[in-house]
Amino acid sequence: MCQHLRTIGDNYGLTCLDCGEVLEGYGYNVQTHTCRHVFQKYDEGYECMYCQGGNA
Ligand SMILES: [Zn+2]
Ligand SMILES: [Zn+2]
Repeated sequence: MCQHLRTIGDNYGLTCLDCGEVLEGYGYNVQTHTCRHVFQKYDEGYECMYCQGGNA
């Protein structure tokens, strides 16, 4: 089972270098069409740092 220890990321997301699984957002250089949301707290509430999707 991959521990996703080696990762590569950019403004679009984060991907595991070893198994290629998208860990956050759309993956490095946009590898998927579905966002793996990573919510961060802003003044207005929680928003995904990659797609700005609302509270899910
Ligand atoms: Zn991995
Ligand atoms: Zn998202």
